[in-house]
Amino acid sequence: MQGIVTEYNDICIFCGRQAEAEHHLIFGTAGRELSDKDGLKVPVCNNCHNMGDKLHRIHDNPMAERLSKMLGQAMFEAKIGSREEFRKRYGRSYL
Ligand SMILES: [Zn+2]
Ligand SMILES: [Zn+2]
Repeated sequence: MQGIVTEYNDICIFCGRQAEAEHHLIFGTAGRELSDKDGLKVPVCNNCHNMGDKLHRIHDNPMAERLSKMLGQAMFEAKIGSREEFRKRYGRSYL
């Protein structure tokens, strides 16, 4: 499924350069697959995703990872279902 956050799939959502990957807003063991099905993902360049230094990428940056999951849930609640439905589907709430 297409991401539901932006329609500009070729542009890194953080820096505007050419996107090279998809970041799943909710990631980890079970979350990634559900996130994929629900379109909770954003286009990213490799630097902003997981190859840049830690202050400028999502992964291994604890606050960025937390905010990623919060945005994922916010988008779910805006376009897909209720908080209770999110909690049931993903096993917890990030908001
Ligand atoms: Zn980028
Ligand atoms: Zn990612």
